[in-house]
Amino acid sequence: MYKLRNFMEEAVIYKTNDILKIMNICKCEKCKLDIIAIALNDLPSKYVVTQIGELYAKVNELTQQFEVDIETSIVKAAVQVARSPKHDIEQ
Ligand SMILES: [Zn+2]
Repeated sequence: MYKLRNFMEEAVIYKTNDILKIMNICKCEKCKLDIIAIALNDLPSKYVVTQIGELYAKVNELTQQFEVDIETSIVKAAVQVARSPKHDIEQ
């Protein structure tokens, strides 16, 4: 069974978790998803057709090609979200 996936989405989700570990900002679900959304809007979509289980090899391969762009967009997005977080006040 084949699936159409935007590999950039997988790569950004994966890298955001890594980058947030070393940044001193809010890591709640809302802020994390805001960062991912902003970074993805900034990056080109990269659609790939994969079979189940095949995606991660492709993500690794393509993440390396776009590593600098992906990291730059995530850090920019994280700084933007940290400046004006949209999470509920009680968090
Ligand atoms: Zn937050």
